[in-house]
Amino acid sequence: MELDLSNVKGFEEEIEASITIDELYQVKVKYLGKKGSISLLNKQMKNFPPEQRPEIGKKINELRTRFEELYNARYNRLKEEEKKKRLEQESIDVTMPGFPFTPGALHPITRVYYEIVDIFTAMGFEVATGPEVEYDYYNFEALNIPKEHPARDMQDTFYITDEILLRTHTSPVQIRVMEANTPPIKIIAPGKVYRCDHDVTHSPMFHQVEGLLVAEKVTFADLKGTLTLFIKRMFGEDIPVRFRPSFFPFTEPSAEVDMGCVICGGKGCRVCGHTGWLEILGCGMVDPEVFKSVKYDTEKYQGYAFGMGIERIAMLKYGIDDLRLFYDNKLRFLKQF
Ligand SMILES: [Zn+2]
Repeated sequence: MELDLSNVKGFEEEIEASITIDELYQVKVKYLGKKGSISLLNKQMKNFPPEQRPEIGKKINELRTRFEELYNARYNRLKEEEKKKRLEQESIDVTMPGFPFTPGALHPITRVYYEIVDIFTAMGFEVATGPEVEYDYYNFEALNIPKEHPARDMQDTFYITDEILLRTHTSPVQIRVMEANTPPIKIIAPGKVYRCDHDVTHSPMFHQVEGLLVAEKVTFADLKGTLTLFIKRMFGEDIPVRFRPSFFPFTEPSAEVDMGCVICGGKGCRVCGHTGWLEILGCGMVDPEVFKSVKYDTEKYQGYAFGMGIERIAMLKYGIDDLRLFYDNKLRFLKQF
């Protein structure tokens, strides 16, 4: 009588043929599980006479040991392969090109803002700032624009209460600086201002730079020299500059400053209204009435002041004809700077 091994034939091949640990485990269940073929061999034991049984038991154990040896070897190989595969998938190829990163850049208004500040600080001006929510007194009255003054119509004001408003220009900073200091004063005041305007050339919020110099023996020639130098630094040495008489409530005399059209080079185009000139800023000698409101000795001190729109300077510098582009935040536009 022999042990019937017909059900356990072929486990070597099955173990070798398993290509995943899961498959391999199914083979183990099939042979070594509670109802596995090798486990069931024990049931044949009763068919043998007692003196033969130890030998049969030994045979079954050898078979089990053989299975486990092959199983463990295969298991280790599969485990190794799996690890290798995972390492390959997860490995970093340092020679791969990186993700494209577009570096950020300053907004064109910010760039021009910094450029203007740089030019004036190089000439010895200090930067002063003031509140954007301002008293009517600082925004108008102290600047020689009393209530009912026609100049108030020029500036569509966002009023918060009768006495508090969003500043319509950076000029109130002049008053605040003069109140807190005695001459000499040499400042620029860049910042945001607000007016109820919105079209191709106006935005309800925009930026201005105000300049103020107060000292003894200041003349209009000093003002002309400073602003001419500024325009040439900003737009180029060859740009012609001219001063035209004008009117502002807080300066006397007052002037508007034109520079040669940077678009057409002075020949005349749509941007300059075919005059060859572009208006770029307003200026003048500080009106003694303004000095009186900050209690400066008008016999002793003179001063000049000027103001310009940063958007306008940026539009002319970069040849942009619609101011609203600055605030649409379209990357296609902003990336050009
Ligand atoms: Zn032109």
